[in-house]
Amino acid sequence: MSVDEAPAAEYDVPPGEEPAATCPYCGRPFREERYATFHVGAEHAAACSDAEREAFEDERDDEEYELFTFHLKAAVSVFFVYFVFTFVYALVWSG
Ligand SMILES: [Zn+2]
Repeated sequence: MSVDEAPAAEYDVPPGEEPAATCPYCGRPFREERYATFHVGAEHAAACSDAEREAFEDERDDEEYELFTFHLKAAVSVFFVYFVFTFVYALVWSG
């Protein structure tokens, strides 16, 4: 583990705000626990435990899944609009 990690003062938390999680390796505060999980997995991949690595991979999978569902929804919406237009067009021309 390197000793020249950035000092915690660099990541000052605004007054009145309590960080939800703190990095156990460099002390960096995070607004959400999942951010800390991401940070540990990305920045301290060599130092973190198997459990922490697993949590990171789980979070990352969730993120990818969310992105996938978003793309799927977008694709379905576009297809649906296209279908409706085609249907209306066919209806108009058959009538
Ligand atoms: Zn850290």
